[in-house]
Amino acid sequence: MFVIPASEASTAEFLWAMSNWCHDASTAYPRGGFGRIPCSFLDACEKHGGELRLGEPVSRIVVEKGTVMGVETEKGFYPSDIVVSDAGIRNTVELAGTGNFDPEYAKRISELIDSDGAVTVKYALDYKPTDAIVSVYIPKGFIYEDYRASLEAGNIPQDPALYMVSPTVADPDLAPPGKHLLLVCAAVPPSLAHSDAATRMSEVVDRRMSELFPGIEEHTVWKHKTSLEFISMMGGRGAGEAIGLAQRYDQDGANSVNPALPVKGLYAVGVDAGGMGIGTERAADSAMNVFDRIVADAGS
Ligand SMILES: Cc1cc2nc3c(=O)[nH]c(=O)nc-3n(C[C@H](O)[C@H](O)[C@H](O)COP(=O)(O)OP(=O)(O)OC[C@H]3O[C@@H](n4cnc5c(N)ncnc54)[C@H](O)[C@@H]3O)c2cc1C
Repeated sequence: MFVIPASEASTAEFLWAMSNWCHDASTAYPRGGFGRIPCSFLDACEKHGGELRLGEPVSRIVVEKGTVMGVETEKGFYPSDIVVSDAGIRNTVELAGTGNFDPEYAKRISELIDSDGAVTVKYALDYKPTDAIVSVYIPKGFIYEDYRASLEAGNIPQDPALYMVSPTVADPDLAPPGKHLLLVCAAVPPSLAHSDAATRMSEVVDRRMSELFPGIEEHTVWKHKTSLEFISMMGGRGAGEAIGLAQRYDQDGANSVNPALPVKGLYAVGVDAGGMGIGTERAADSAMNVFDRIVADAGS
């Protein structure tokens, strides 16, 4: 669930997440796709007079005398007394200049460990392969630590655990009538980015799917395979991790990252800091908590 080995996972966070899910029956799929969650925040921003600039990455967060001054892109400098960064905590510290932080803090952030990544195969199909929105396939006796060690040693496991989402089950309007999407992924450690092993793993996933869903090949309109570089490009963190910082036993509770960085006016938001839960739920929870934190800091 955390896309890290169980032996490294935070028991407390796992129990918290699992018990909330069971108690609230709160797993869900937002109509329009997971992207609707950040888009709903952006809609609120624009509704209140905010302006959205896409395709213009921040190259530097400008800090002077321990206070944030604004951000720089290739098009210019945007002055601001508050900067909220979703670029991942490590990237955020680097964008703000590690020299602007206490060396111990900068070292600690640079040493934080990421969750594992994933290779994916996305199928566009002319039939409905399953009635389940989410399916999990775990081979009998599967031990993630062994699977991971085998991959890192260059031996490609032939029967990986698979996580599958069929968004068109919940949201048929995502595809033309009668067509369906099935998104499948297998976890792969980020250390395998740019490696042949990750590419070969996506071939294994594709073959295994044709065994688990006999006939899927004949019903495939198109398919799209991605490796770790795709995730790294989408998130912009450069790591290729699936979730963000690993929810490890030594990165939870008092050891988790504070979303208010030790530079006045600089905040981290997203899955790395300030939220509870997993993945998009954790990132959205962070957005709401960081908003409250900024309002509280502004009033103090
Ligand atoms: C294959 C796969 C399957 C997953 N399945 C699920 C699932 O079923 N359920 C679930 O809840 N989660 C799932 N996740 C995890 C989930 O996608 C992430 O945890 C979540 O997207 C993290 O949100 P975020 O806002 O913190 O970061 P991101 O979604 O990575 O967003 C970071 C944003 O910051 C932008 N950015 C980065 N650097 C800069 C810069 N310098 N300037 C400007 N912008 C910048 C990026 O462009 C990006 O838009 C999955 C992830 C993967 C890879």
